[in-house]
Amino acid sequence: EAKRRGKNQFVIFDESMRQNTINMHNEELALAKAIEEEQLILHFQPQFDLELNKIIGAEALVRWEHPEKGLVYPDNFIPLAEQSGQILELGNYVIRKSFEYLAHREQLGLYPILLHINLSSLQLNDPNLVPYVKQMIQQFKIPGHYIGFEITETTLLTDIAHAKKTLEQLKMLGICVAIDDFGTGFSSLGQLKNLPVDLLKIDRSFVRDLETDKDDRMMVEAIIAMAHKLDIMVIAEGVETIEQLNMLRSFNCDLGQGYYISRPIAEDKFDDFPETIIVESFTASSV
Ligand code: C2E
Ligand code: MG
Ligand code: MG
Ligand code: MG
Repeated sequence: EAKRRGKNQFVIFDESMRQNTINMHNEELALAKAIEEEQLILHFQPQFDLELNKIIGAEALVRWEHPEKGLVYPDNFIPLAEQSGQILELGNYVIRKSFEYLAHREQLGLYPILLHINLSSLQLNDPNLVPYVKQMIQQFKIPGHYIGFEITETTLLTDIAHAKKTLEQLKMLGICVAIDDFGTGFSSLGQLKNLPVDLLKIDRSFVRDLETDKDDRMMVEAIIAMAHKLDIMVIAEGVETIEQLNMLRSFNCDLGQGYYISRPIAEDKFDDFPETIIVESFTASSV
């Protein structure tokens, strides 16, 4: 009896494993189809210059317009794409769509923006990345300085020497290099000073509690001051309130991004997004 149950259990385990493999395979197939049939779309979240009160850039954020599930967010498929290696194809797709969008803006005569694209670790190590970007620059006639790449600290620090080489090649194309989610990894500005970094993106976990957490406030203020000493610009992500925005401004933070300014929006909506935004300000002069 025990032996039979054991055998049954083995069969059940084996069956569930088989099912997992099938599901995994199905998801990969679905994603491959989504890329092929252009079901992946970009939303754009405006990036705001805190001094000029102007939109000077945006972050491209991928979504999957799923025929049955509706709009699916990247946390639900980027990890799978990274595991399966499909992130290279997906990543190139996002890069191409970003160039397409910049060309579209230029054609409509809309104000220029610096468009930031998220880059996974596999992409940074892909020998085809730089040639592909060069090809896009030529094909769409969009200079590299309209493009930025957001790369996390962990991605940069796994192989610093290699990362440095790739970043230098990207810099030669005029591309802006940004560090995403800064503060959540284990890097220090000291480690980053050897890399050609233009922009630090302070993680939203530090921005969230700015009003209540004195430590976060000191951290953010110190990060901004040090970055500026190294000639690196700073953007804060996850700005949700005017109080956060004003505080960041008082710390001389260069740029802000978050729901307070705008959620990520579809292409046609971003086309209509105004360049200049007057955010109400509680500074002494306005009282
Ligand atoms: P991320 O690069 O750190 O992007 C910021 C995320 O925060 C976005 O989520 C954005 O919608 C959200 N966000 C922006 N402002 C606020 C705010 O004020 N409050 C709050 N609570 N959240 C805010 P999303 O679009 O779901 O993207 C999640 C992550 O997926 C991104 O994090 C990025 O790591 C990854 N991702 C998105 N698009 C791509 C892509 O094309 N390629 C790669 N490799 N990764 C991508
Ligand atoms: Mg990002
Ligand atoms: Mg981020
Ligand atoms: Mg983040």
